[in-house]
Amino acid sequence: MRFLITGGAGFIGSHLAEYLLGAGESVVVLDNLSTGRFDNIRHLVGQPSFSYFIGSVEDPALLTEAGRQCDAIFHLAAAVGVELIVRDPVGTIETNINGTEAVLRFAVRYGKRVLVTSSSEVYGKTAKLPFREEDDVTYGATSRPRWAYAISKAVDEFLVRAYVESKGLPGIVARLFNTVGPRQVGHYGMVIPRFVDQALRGGPLLVYGDGRQTRCFAHVADIVAALYELIRLPQLNAEIVNLGGKERVSIRHLAERVRDRVNPRLDIQHVPYESVFGASFEDMRDRDPDLQRARKLIGYAPRYDLNRILDDVIGDRRRERQAA
Ligand code: UDP
Repeated sequence: MRFLITGGAGFIGSHLAEYLLGAGESVVVLDNLSTGRFDNIRHLVGQPSFSYFIGSVEDPALLTEAGRQCDAIFHLAAAVGVELIVRDPVGTIETNINGTEAVLRFAVRYGKRVLVTSSSEVYGKTAKLPFREEDDVTYGATSRPRWAYAISKAVDEFLVRAYVESKGLPGIVARLFNTVGPRQVGHYGMVIPRFVDQALRGGPLLVYGDGRQTRCFAHVADIVAALYELIRLPQLNAEIVNLGGKERVSIRHLAERVRDRVNPRLDIQHVPYESVFGASFEDMRDRDPDLQRARKLIGYAPRYDLNRILDDVIGDRRRERQAA
């Protein structure tokens, strides 16, 4: 099959491109390089089953040129990372909603299957763990910019459902939880590459708040394999599917594990959220995906544990620093 990956020069998109090519598929990447990096796909350029277009999914002529010959679309192009969302609220909302709408319109018109990646942000500040796809969600006040991201991704999910139900689109939604691995950068808030970079620079590792907030991290290799399984399901009925890691860890403990792997003598410091994100910021306390639906649909079972994830990221960041 031939797949279009929007956001294919991003961290997850570029791993997906690599994985699909390895599985013998053809891949077209469309990316505007806003947060994606050409370096992420440079090593794929020249392979006969790979091509790429630089530009926006909101450019209809370009989207048609890139996607016309494809059978299916992975729509990953989106605003990414908590820091970016605080810095650029207009860009976040518009990219997430207008981009998804453009892709769904195109897919219906040309009869393509679509997988849209959503985010665990959609769960908002739901306190009941683990998060199930059919759970109610709770958001903070609209005066707090963080929730704009959550709600824009929720609108994407509604859009997929609406296109499936009223226009017959074969579409599915993957709700991605914290995904990590080689090539991820820390500029947009991602905690593991940040801690690793801080440790490799000699510390300190900066934990926001009391560090008792918890997350489950998945290796990008597990996530891209699952995305490939999901888009090939016989029926794509707008189902929402959580994908993420299994082991829940506090951010303080995570910092200790990174420190212990790099240099046990490094300092870990706590900094208040307000000094990083401003006073209106609200963090999610805990995140834990219920993975039963993914298991039932595609036999999803993550193969990489947190130790392996940390080793991979540390190895990758060390190589990058040596190359710089
Ligand atoms: N975090 C931190 N130090 C950092 C970056 C993030 O302590 O340098 C915390 C952040 O406040 C959050 C957790 O780590 O509680 C995960 O942050 P990330 O941005 O990676 O993911 P998300 O908050 O979207 O789950």
